[in-house]
Amino acid sequence: MALEPEGNNRLLQDVLARPGNETCADCGNPVTPQALLSSTPSKALLSLSTKQAPRTPAKKLDSPLDGSSGDGASGSALTDTSRAAYVTEFSTSKPDWASLTLGVFVCQACSLLHRSIPHISRVKSVQDTWDASDVELMAATGNNAAKAKYEQKVPAFYYRPTHTDCKLLREQWIRAKYERNEFEFIEKQEPYSAEYKAWTLSCLLFVSSPTKARDPKAVMKIETLNATFQPAKIGNPCGLQITYLKDNSTRNIFVYHSDAKEMVDWFNAIRAARFHYLQVAFPGASDEELVPKLTRNFMKEGFMEKTGPKHTEGFKKRWFTMDDRRLMYFKDPLDAYARGEVFIGSKENSYTVLSGLPPSTQGYHWNHGITIVTPDRKFLFACETEAEQRDWIVAFQRVINRPMRPQEYAGYHGDLPQLKVSQLCDRGKVELIHSGGPFQTQALMTTRSGSSQLKPAQSR
Ligand SMILES: [Zn+2]
Repeated sequence: MALEPEGNNRLLQDVLARPGNETCADCGNPVTPQALLSSTPSKALLSLSTKQAPRTPAKKLDSPLDGSSGDGASGSALTDTSRAAYVTEFSTSKPDWASLTLGVFVCQACSLLHRSIPHISRVKSVQDTWDASDVELMAATGNNAAKAKYEQKVPAFYYRPTHTDCKLLREQWIRAKYERNEFEFIEKQEPYSAEYKAWTLSCLLFVSSPTKARDPKAVMKIETLNATFQPAKIGNPCGLQITYLKDNSTRNIFVYHSDAKEMVDWFNAIRAARFHYLQVAFPGASDEELVPKLTRNFMKEGFMEKTGPKHTEGFKKRWFTMDDRRLMYFKDPLDAYARGEVFIGSKENSYTVLSGLPPSTQGYHWNHGITIVTPDRKFLFACETEAEQRDWIVAFQRVINRPMRPQEYAGYHGDLPQLKVSQLCDRGKVELIHSGGPFQTQALMTTRSGSSQLKPAQSR
């Protein structure tokens, strides 16, 4: 029976209302829905977090702190904030477009990425005029069926981007699924799953200069390693910020690679290594509990002005990064080390954030002040705009309103027990480490061919 175009579009709306089609096929997944929704952390995580003897977190500016947990959203109850984020996730990835070649419904942002791969995907707006055969095609596939095919073997550690992630991550996820079919054939996951990358990373990770491949510039311990894409800050669409703790201070490394796939592969190799490490560190914990701990994005970054402990030193403009409970400040956004770190505790520990500065504040400064009250002293900051002030206060309040978890008193290493290399090696071959010892090992941040070295980003 032939239908008028309006009839076809009505049928298409019925197809759109089917389970799975109500969110974008490519960015509609909240990062870890299970983690957001699960109500209790496992016994494995609980027992570890309570074993540590609580000690007072460091609170002094200009000294390294030792009281941050560093992990992202863990398996706690769904809070108002995370529920709001969860709902936003779905409402903003509304599928207005369809890929006629793949049979999936996607949001507008993802449809633009599909357009850049025309040999794989041909997209059409659901508002367009549809003919019966195209509606039938979409009815025969749909997001759930496509997911069962294209996402059948996504490793647990693999990062599934959402609409808030950078274009690099979103585009490579789409290409990995539909163009390279990485999640249908395990052998295509070798660049980030292979032992040579993930297992050597899980013990030690080196960054070497191309000319002195046998002279490691840095050794990063996997237990404090984090990676987050920072295209705007680094000034490169593939810019990745890697952080780790050195002598309990945060060390930054900024890298990029001209090959987008290579960069995302490295990001997922780091996640794979962290995943294997956490599986050893927390035996019995579920994937849903471990995956949110693999990597984390910063809560807020930007310029503010700060004064010193006497409040008479004059305000200086600094770049601030809020990484969980660590507020770090840098002279330049691409500095390797922070000038100082401030621990931000919870309101139960007498931490408060206030809008404005004390009336006695001296010296020239930006107009929009913030005062953070800690048990020891007040920290005074000034923002250039009211919007920045509001965003910073929201970020501080999120941390202060969250009760301290037991492991946060014990510092980063209280959260993640130190492992011996042999414990990790039991789980897989680590031939490079065995063959010559860590300092004789070749630079690991190269591909197998050694042809594509990661480049340290230029400091400005
Ligand atoms: Zn999307």
